[in-house]
Amino acid sequence: MTRPVPAIVILGNGSLATARSIQQVYPEALIHGLAERVEDADRVYHEFGATLRELYQQGTPIIALCAAGIVIRTLAPLLLEKGAEPPVLAVAEDGSAVVPLLGGLGGVNVMAREIANALEVSAAITTSGELRFGTCLLNPPSGYALGDLESGKRFVSDLLAGETVRIEGEAPWLAQAQLPEDAQARLAVHVGHAERAPAANELLIYPRNVVVAVSAGVTNVATAVREALHQVKVAVQSLACLLAADTEMANPALREAALELGVPLRFASAEAGIGERLRAAIGQPVSILGNDTVAIAVAGQPVAPLQIGRPRGRLAVIGLGPGAAELMVPAVKAELARATDVLGYETYVRMAGPFRADQVLHCTDNREEMQRARHAFELAAQGRSVVVVSSGDPGVFAMAAAVLEALHESSDAHWHNVDLEILPGVSASLATAAQAGAPLGHDFCVLSLSDNLKPWAIIEKRLDLAAQADLALAFYNPISRSRPWQLGQALDIVARHRVPETPVVLGRDIGRPGQTLRVTTLGQLTPDQVDMRTMVLIGSSTTCVFPRAENGVWVYTPRWYGNKPGS
Ligand code: SAH
Repeated sequence: MTRPVPAIVILGNGSLATARSIQQVYPEALIHGLAERVEDADRVYHEFGATLRELYQQGTPIIALCAAGIVIRTLAPLLLEKGAEPPVLAVAEDGSAVVPLLGGLGGVNVMAREIANALEVSAAITTSGELRFGTCLLNPPSGYALGDLESGKRFVSDLLAGETVRIEGEAPWLAQAQLPEDAQARLAVHVGHAERAPAANELLIYPRNVVVAVSAGVTNVATAVREALHQVKVAVQSLACLLAADTEMANPALREAALELGVPLRFASAEAGIGERLRAAIGQPVSILGNDTVAIAVAGQPVAPLQIGRPRGRLAVIGLGPGAAELMVPAVKAELARATDVLGYETYVRMAGPFRADQVLHCTDNREEMQRARHAFELAAQGRSVVVVSSGDPGVFAMAAAVLEALHESSDAHWHNVDLEILPGVSASLATAAQAGAPLGHDFCVLSLSDNLKPWAIIEKRLDLAAQADLALAFYNPISRSRPWQLGQALDIVARHRVPETPVVLGRDIGRPGQTLRVTTLGQLTPDQVDMRTMVLIGSSTTCVFPRAENGVWVYTPRWYGNKPGS
């Protein structure tokens, strides 16, 4: 199985050389550098604590080039939470020390040795079992699963106290370990896929060499799988993945079963019978057990689930927010990290990066929305994990609607089977409003002034009615070289219903380098103050302005309307 890609986190330029050496060990890892302090990082962050905690919560292995104490203090609030723990290491800025801190069962010591090797120092391994036996018995390699952690800890401490051990079954990774082996030992490491009752003197390790195929129409899938395995005395811990027909991709019962059983869900062509499907997918000799609805394949060796059949494709339409990384929602960051393919207008794709070398970028012109949407489905239908990027929110004058329209128009079952999700972002109107105060604090209306996709007459009518209704107004796409006169006309319409003193906020490149925020009035606003990178917010009759202690003013629209409550 592929290991998750670590993040290398640095605080200053002084660590960059060491970070680059570590990156040679993990070429896909990105170096995250503190903005203002690091000039040449792959990705910048603004807040060390928040960044580290976010990475940890996403399960990303962390290599932090700073004092171990800083890392511990930063992650401390999260350490009591249950769940899998990613490896976390502290490495001295100058590369002179490598300290594995957390994630013993996630392979932190293995990483510590890999990094220490590259830096030509020795890793500060403190795990007794690992030091004594040269391996962490409780962390078998991928392809094998530990039976039970708690009894395992007891087993290892018995060994450390001087007991000897036998190995039953095939444990190739232990060949190099320095275990106190003795054929007569009371303790045994038992490796096998047969169902087996736990015993105090045994460390059970299961090879993941079993694949179960379920046919359509099986209800209670997880229970059916457990029962079928139990009938043939095969341990559920040896299950490497579930295999289903590709016509069943969108079946939520299968997804839930895979989640409950804790294994990946893979798909193969529905044409063959399930036994045949299993044989074809596994690619090594197997014996087939079970029945017509739940078939069980047992292979001689562990199987790599990600090489069996194919996964359900995924398509996520994401919003990057206005630009600044802190304003991107964590779900979007996680989606970008798992993407195999990224589609979008080149500017936004660049804004979403940097990307790893294994991620494919498909940059297209801004106008080719429907084509891009169809391309995204074609890729996702092949089982890829596709991201379509929009700035701000994908549902606000952006790609989400185009993607849904492409799907609506399609009768291709493969497209409809794709795991489609829309992930929101902070839209430009909201990001701009927040910087100005709360100009959209009461009812407001969002309009695009672009008449590329709708007649100008409709825009005029909506403007007139919205202005008449005294809604605060947010204009997207206010002006462009090919639409030079529309904004002037729009302002004339608004002026029929609003006084010239009405506050106006102009936010340009909000959340991006060189952002500007300007507060003016309707009477003073002219189209030449606005360009296509500007958000125009026009207040309602109740919107007010007052000076800030620092420079500038606050703009807000009160929550009440008509008579102020309580006065
Ligand atoms: N989906 C985007 C909007 C796309 S329409 C969102 O939700 O924000 C493009 C228009 O949005 C631009 O013409 C501009 O009016 C506005 N816009 C987008 N990003 C902006 C930013 N960072 N600052 C100011 N306006 C922005």
